[in-house]
Amino acid sequence: MDKMIFYSTNLSAPEVDFEGALLGGIAPDKGLYMPRKMPRFEVDEITGMKEMSYSEVAFAVLRKVLCPGVDPGALMRICADAYNYEVPVERVYRGNFVMRLDRGPTASFKDFAARLMARLVQYFTGKQKKEITILTATSGDTGSAVAQAFFGLENIRVVVLFPRDEVSERQRRQMTTLGGNVTCVAVCGKFDDCQAMVKEAFCDDGLSGLNLSSANSINIGRLIPQMVYYFYGYSRVADKGEEIVFSVPSGNFGDIMGGLFAREMGLPVARFVAAVNENDEFVRFVETGSYSKIVPSKNCVSNAMNVGHPSNLSRLVALYGGQMDETGRIHKMPRMDDIRRDIFAVSVSDEETRDVIKRVYDEFKVVLEPHGAVGWRGLMRFREGFGDKGKVVCIETAHPAKFPDEIVKAIGVDVDVPLSISRVEGKDEKMDALGVDYLGFREYLVKKFL
Ligand SMILES: *Cc1c(COP(=O)(O)O)cnc(C)c1O
Repeated sequence: MDKMIFYSTNLSAPEVDFEGALLGGIAPDKGLYMPRKMPRFEVDEITGMKEMSYSEVAFAVLRKVLCPGVDPGALMRICADAYNYEVPVERVYRGNFVMRLDRGPTASFKDFAARLMARLVQYFTGKQKKEITILTATSGDTGSAVAQAFFGLENIRVVVLFPRDEVSERQRRQMTTLGGNVTCVAVCGKFDDCQAMVKEAFCDDGLSGLNLSSANSINIGRLIPQMVYYFYGYSRVADKGEEIVFSVPSGNFGDIMGGLFAREMGLPVARFVAAVNENDEFVRFVETGSYSKIVPSKNCVSNAMNVGHPSNLSRLVALYGGQMDETGRIHKMPRMDDIRRDIFAVSVSDEETRDVIKRVYDEFKVVLEPHGAVGWRGLMRFREGFGDKGKVVCIETAHPAKFPDEIVKAIGVDVDVPLSISRVEGKDEKMDALGVDYLGFREYLVKKFL
């Protein structure tokens, strides 16, 4: 087996191996790294996953992609260490399932990617004896998953920027109560401001001494681990070779890219439902073939999906033979008919989202939170259009206890709070405060770390 090669979606940067893509984050031409060619699984290999635990499936999938660049023994230990929690796949009714990716340390699906990515970064930087700084902007779930995942790792420092007034108290506490190698900065601005400051820092030669790297889903290291739960979910519900459907609540389209990569590797998926909230730029793109982003993005109850221009769209376009740059301009059209065949795109309003939380609870006693409810509404639309045959797995991306007010409003019951959330409740918080001002941020980084 040869090492996997990654190219930039902007097509003007040198190709790199996985280590280069992971530690580099974004390509020098501002494009995103994409695998040139995915390895394939035989049907029998996929059927064999039925008997495996989650971490065993992870090893089986990731070894095809990451070895020989990563030592297989080390990879096996990394998978076992990262995935030490449950991944429930529940039947809701007949062929309709929900896969709960909310049992990790910060109760969102972002733990799956962040925990593996952190360990791989440590694996490579440990070999190079190099100290690096992971700089990330968050609207809530990314920052906490990344901070928890990198907490306590040697030679890695984490700096998280978040909008002071836009993250929930529970999300904030999961970052600010850590200390150690995790530094939190509350920015008196919006998420977009935080992201702009982070992007500028990546392009700032004066900060090269920090060895900055990114942990947002622009990093391919975030997407590769997300292929695994599609294989796992498939192995829990499907018969040999059966084609199934996944419904994926989507914002930046990192989650669904993991699924599309899994399909490239031979996973029998008939279709993906891309379920978005009222930020419906992707749905309109699929319908009309012309793309325009939504600026500013709309604030919906599924707040982790309030994205007016999904950063992974350029990867999706590349997968279908097109080219889109980081601003959303299309230089070459992708094969739209193939996109329409593979992806059923659905936009879900806030009203429908709340209604679904109530209906699914009333009918099946299953509790969904707003993001999973968007996915479930996508599943329902799919059933309306394509009938009742076959199996659909809806991905639930966060724990309902992260959104207690919405749940109580919709179904009138309190949800149990998992330990991952309750244990940060009384702890001291540590954070610095900054305004929206790049030079101020730069000076802060220099004084504190250089
Ligand atoms: C980040 C997030 C999403 C969106 O995932 P993308 O990979 O950005 O499409 C959905 N739900 C929750 C709870 C999230 O934190």
